[in-house]
Amino acid sequence: MKGFAMLKIGEAGWIEKEKPVAGPYDAIVAPLALAPCTSDIHTVYEGAIGERSNLILGHEAIGRIVEIGKKVKDFKPGDRVVVPAITPEWRTLPVQLGVPAQHSEGMLTGWKFSNDKDGVFAEYFHVNDADMNLALLPDGITLEQAAMMPDMMTTGFHGAEMAQVQIGADVCVIGIGPVGLMAVAGAELRGAGRIFAVGSRPNCVALAREYGATDIINYKNGDIVAQVLDATKGLGVDHVIVAGGPPQTLAQAVDMVKPGGVIGNINYFGVGDTLPIPRLGWGCGMAHKSVHGGLCPGGRGRMERMISIVRHGRVDPGKLVTHRFTGLEGVEAGLALMKDKPADVIKPVALLE
Ligand code: NAD
Ligand code: ZN
Repeated sequence: MKGFAMLKIGEAGWIEKEKPVAGPYDAIVAPLALAPCTSDIHTVYEGAIGERSNLILGHEAIGRIVEIGKKVKDFKPGDRVVVPAITPEWRTLPVQLGVPAQHSEGMLTGWKFSNDKDGVFAEYFHVNDADMNLALLPDGITLEQAAMMPDMMTTGFHGAEMAQVQIGADVCVIGIGPVGLMAVAGAELRGAGRIFAVGSRPNCVALAREYGATDIINYKNGDIVAQVLDATKGLGVDHVIVAGGPPQTLAQAVDMVKPGGVIGNINYFGVGDTLPIPRLGWGCGMAHKSVHGGLCPGGRGRMERMISIVRHGRVDPGKLVTHRFTGLEGVEAGLALMKDKPADVIKPVALLE
């Protein structure tokens, strides 16, 4: 079968591989919609998780099941499914005792596609533990909306969850690409009062307002910490979600969050050995400011919740899609867009049906 792969750090291209085989609990899925991601760019072009050779890329897919293992109970060939980016091994002890996304076999190992096994940018891909990782896609949700569930929605919302956004509280979202836009929507869903969105591109700013931002801060107009402090009478905000930009954005989050405030980081820092925490901004270590950084939750239950949110009209993630390509080949053009990031791109999809 054909797949679009990381050949080595800095290089991606088409390769041929054997079609994957399903174990007893697994499924083989053919893609219906695929979404290239900024994380694929960190992986290939920044070598953020180290060297990989001929590893098929992609972790955001909607698909149709073509084969199931003998022990799969709830799915059958032909079913249309949402496939989460993160597919933990739910039958392992570490998953039972810890954070599923982290504890399949160690840090980040719930993240399998295009990390430790071939990803979804192929004619077929393998899904471990199908009953616990796949979710049936109901009628009435478009492929474009659905394609935002495996990563963009669950990640952005997790930023709001990790920042522990409280009803009526002030929130700042730093970075409003597709992930940050879903973080804005997540803060709104959790009942935030004022929501600052830090961004500059006109289409992202307009969409941030649609998803619930009340104030826009442009990082190109000077220090964003000063701008947020100015707007809050020097107090800062209760919660910050970091969803884009260089490591300095983490330091800015610490500086703009109130003492006792909470930061949720979903940014994937692609370069450098350490991350900055400003000493004074962190009260010399004593300001009760907490920083949580996490991988998006995956699994069937999480995807069913994403489906519920869309089905019941709470959030329309389809608005993120700015570019559409046809066929598997479309992932190459989509990835090129994520690499070059022209001003009008928020999220591309490749549609195979
Ligand atoms: P994106 O590049 O489309 O969006 C990031 C935004 O940040 C851009 O709009 C950019 O203009 C903006 N930005 C750049 N510098 C900035 C600055 N100094 N201050 C404020 N904003 C700045 O990326 P995305 O697809 O929205 O993803 C965001 C991040 O989340 C990426 O690092 C991605 O790899 C990561 N990610 C993490 C997870 C996870 O599970 N934690 C999942 C998916 C993506
Ligand atoms: Zn992604």
